[in-house]
Amino acid sequence: ELSKTGWLLDITKLTLGEQIGEGEFGAVYRGEYMGQKVAVKIIKCDVTAQSFLQETTVMTKLQHKNLVRLLGVILHKGLHIITELMTKGNLGNFLRTRGRSVINSVQLLHFALNVCEGMEYLESKKLVHRDLAARNVLVSDDSVAKVSDFGLTKVDSKEPDKAKLPVKWTAPESLKKEKFSTKSDVWSYGILLWEIFTYGRQPYPKMSLKEVKEKVEEGYRMESPESCPPNVYSLMRLCWEQDPRRRPGFSKLREKLEQEMIQGTDRD
Ligand code: ATP
Repeated sequence: ELSKTGWLLDITKLTLGEQIGEGEFGAVYRGEYMGQKVAVKIIKCDVTAQSFLQETTVMTKLQHKNLVRLLGVILHKGLHIITELMTKGNLGNFLRTRGRSVINSVQLLHFALNVCEGMEYLESKKLVHRDLAARNVLVSDDSVAKVSDFGLTKVDSKEPDKAKLPVKWTAPESLKKEKFSTKSDVWSYGILLWEIFTYGRQPYPKMSLKEVKEKVEEGYRMESPESCPPNVYSLMRLCWEQDPRRRPGFSKLREKLEQEMIQGTDRD
């Protein structure tokens, strides 16, 4: 199917550069494909190649300025996944290494809005990401944040693999009843907002996964990050409504963030 649609690329046109990352299933390298700078993820194992082909099939159907773009795949000694190169790496590292002295709150709002728009697009396609977190958002050369890692993305909300769930980012109903939806992505987005406004801190600092599960179920929520705009913290709390139906959708969140962007720049 991929070869017919032009997603199958030619290994002889690829130049591999240095390694820039490491994932669970393989390493990520800098590279060049027909003059374009790219990232190359090389999946080692055949067993997993199948599921990654599935991931890339999802990705071929998605095009948005805030989603990391797939250029194609190469079947050569395992699977090569070729995507646009995001030179500033993942958002978590980006924020931690630069910090408050370099990145201002307007830039933070930009990142929040970038991710929200990417997710609004996924929402419109009725796709559920399931693993939204700062580590799965990448930053381009011109500092645009884009959603990446569609490995767990599913069209429907079933087939969970419970042991692997990122507990601190996963909505209570997904942990308990394995129910995933756009609204469980919205919960994760709230955690991601918290990560952004703490410059990449680990959520629920000092709490064990067991504690997080129990406390969150009882209604515990993280406090506002230091010097986070109150309106942004209110959005986090809406994302963390226990009842998924009471959480806003990504379109609503985008509207609110755009308002905050205008008001915030007026205040400065
Ligand atoms: P997996 O869930 O498959 O184990 P992962 O979430 O651990 O993956 P990868 O997506 O494999 O991480 O990427 C690992 C790291 O490589 C990222 O955190 C990022 O720093 C870097 N990386 C991945 N893709 C790109 C890209 N397109 N451009 C630049 N760097 C990338």
